Amino acid sequence: MNKYHLKCTQCGEVIPDFATWFSQNQQCKCGCKRADVVYSADYHKITELTKPEHKPANFYHYFDFLPVMDKKNIVSFGEGAIPIEEWDFLEKYAREKYGVNCKVMVYRNDLNGGSNTFKDIAASLAASLFKENGVKEFCVASTGNTATAYARYLAEAGIKFTVFMPHDACEDTVKAIRSYGQTVIVCNGTYGDAKKAANDFHEQNQVLISTGNIDPIRVEAKKTMVFEYLRQLGKMPDVYMQAVAGGTGPIALDKGIRDLQTTFPETKMPRMLLVQQDTCDPMVQGWENAVKAGFPEGYEKNYPVIPNPQTKISILTAGNPGMYPIVAPIVRKSGGTFLRMKESELAKYGRIVKDERGIYFGPASIVCFAGFYKALEEGQIHDGETVLLNTGEGADRATWFKKMVDEESSL
Ligand SMILES: [Zn+2]
Repeated sequence: MNKYHLKCTQCGEVIPDFATWFSQNQQCKCGCKRADVVYSADYHKITELTKPEHKPANFYHYFDFLPVMDKKNIVSFGEGAIPIEEWDFLEKYAREKYGVNCKVMVYRNDLNGGSNTFKDIAASLAASLFKENGVKEFCVASTGNTATAYARYLAEAGIKFTVFMPHDACEDTVKAIRSYGQTVIVCNGTYGDAKKAANDFHEQNQVLISTGNIDPIRVEAKKTMVFEYLRQLGKMPDVYMQAVAGGTGPIALDKGIRDLQTTFPETKMPRMLLVQQDTCDPMVQGWENAVKAGFPEGYEKNYPVIPNPQTKISILTAGNPGMYPIVAPIVRKSGGTFLRMKESELAKYGRIVKDERGIYFGPASIVCFAGFYKALEEGQIHDGETVLLNTGEGADRATWFKKMVDEESSL
């Protein structure tokens, strides 16, 4: 029996493995680029793997539920089995200000070994799968974090990587990618132009290109967070929060839960509270319109596009949220909602984290953190609940933000 297969989410076609998936340009014969990976392993194994005595070095602890065939192909810098911390100052705040007794847990993606971001697990799994299946070259259009993580992991696997970036690409990011011996092409135009250049390169040179947020590699890597929640919390959280741009996080959480439900139907989907900053909040706007209209048929296809978002948070600049039609129904199914925080308050919240925990979070992590305050204000967190904040990145490549936090006075 094969370890796994892919199944097209549109037509149900079975694609036997990633070698085939790569050979048909990462899509089903019907043209759909979204496929679920289905494993032969028994999910009862998860009960053993998530016992608290395990201290995994990385997310390949869940090897039976990842599409790598041979452990010798694993490319890892120690990612994915990151600590979940209890932040009691937030619990105290909720109790004193709102009378809500809740547990607040923080999933620290800044502690990932590759590039200190949530992108590291996806980059690690991509590098391992490319190595295993003889993929020699890859390309992407990116504004930053994804490209930096992939640059490091693909270099480690000996895979050539070309990144197309918009004209206003962050100089630190360009340098970081080049430091791994990978190629950056800074286009004379916007992110849209970079995407077009990457696509031309992909077609002319037959080089595989990133398929974005629905890429089954990204989803399979990130879904392992569900197993980590079980291992570290002993249960699923009641509420799941993250800052959202593309939407791989919620898609992956949903996939991980659906997989578990095949064997453990009682597995609970946490209420998803997804946060965007007010300078680039198309999903929040789309959701608010849907709420007002009472979720009419096809509501998920109705969302605004913000052509040129004026935000400093380069990771959260998805002005055209192409994944909203997939993400919104997932949020709705979970009983969750979308929340908006003010970018003008970013430094204030960054300062709270620094004062309370002695660390700098990256700006996207702070969007999630600020979302917790907003969720309390809107009555979205209830007595007795465990809230998990999935914080995406550290502040290493956001020196501008560290400076802002330092200049902000303590409360
Ligand atoms: Zn298909």
